[in-house]
Amino acid sequence: MNLKVGFIGMGIMGVPMSLNILKGGYQLRVCNRSADKCAPLIREGAGKADTPKELAEWADVVILMLTGPEAVQETLDGEHGLLAGMASGKTLINMSTVSPAFAKELNQQLSRRSLFFIDAPVSGSKKPAEDGALVILAGGLPEKIDEFEPLLLKMGKKVVRCGQAGQGSAMKMTVNLLLGIMMEGLCESVNFGERCGLSAETIMDTILSGAMNCPLFALKQDMMKTGNFPPQFPLKHITKDLRFILNVADETGAAVPAGHAVFQLYRQGMGKGLSDSDFAAVKTILEKISD
Ligand code: NAP
Repeated sequence: MNLKVGFIGMGIMGVPMSLNILKGGYQLRVCNRSADKCAPLIREGAGKADTPKELAEWADVVILMLTGPEAVQETLDGEHGLLAGMASGKTLINMSTVSPAFAKELNQQLSRRSLFFIDAPVSGSKKPAEDGALVILAGGLPEKIDEFEPLLLKMGKKVVRCGQAGQGSAMKMTVNLLLGIMMEGLCESVNFGERCGLSAETIMDTILSGAMNCPLFALKQDMMKTGNFPPQFPLKHITKDLRFILNVADETGAAVPAGHAVFQLYRQGMGKGLSDSDFAAVKTILEKISD
């Protein structure tokens, strides 16, 4: 395929997502702040750029999968930043989770330079990223989303058209509000059952045998049973997202009482050194405050 794709952000999500682009037959070069993390892609045949600027000069389209707004802005700016190398007419696809307000500002920033922007955060974690089964929540010009849909579908099973730039991120906030509440709900329920003398194994088997069986709970069952929380979706990311969600709720007037409550628990997790653990580690906070 002739399209030259640049990908920045070799984290938990970025590595499998970019691998799927490569396997899908696209020309790919990658770039990461810590350059050694590009190794798995280079081993598979991807090229590498030393700076975002160098990547932007080569690529037709650049995809970002970074921690959040600060990381995105730092990658864009400066002498070696993306904007220094991106010629007008090219497209930036941001798949990092950012606030809707940041996505809208980014769209304006890029259109002032005659660059195109797709706001395309994802629903799904490490496993769906590996399987190319993410749900991509796209906001932007419909013709640009159409143009890049085949590329997006190398990483995902579905592209949801959410509206203009900013609305992809609004959808992501909507989904992650539920995600944060559901995860805390599972942990609260398992901890409650354990306090009643039931084993986590039996509790999980019971939940997964009934109407509450869902892929999220199935994915986290080993964590509930073992008390080990290797990061799939780090706790620091759900805390960041809930902070954005509460800001949006403040602006729109939406009532989010459970959102406020679970945000405080995830924040306590950050304070207890759980930032890089999976967000299911909020269970350990519930265990502590049960004592
Ligand atoms: P991650 O493993 O923590 O990776 C973060 C990436 O951002 C790394 O490549 C890191 O570079 C880079 N980065 C951080 N700060 C930077 C800065 N100031 N300048 C340049 N690069 C910077 O994160 P992830 O789990 O892949 O998640 C990436 C995004 O997807 C986040 O917005 C997250 O909320 C979202 N998301 C994650 C999941 C999930 O399950 N993990 C699911 C859906 C959405 P270094 O390697 O140099 O640190």
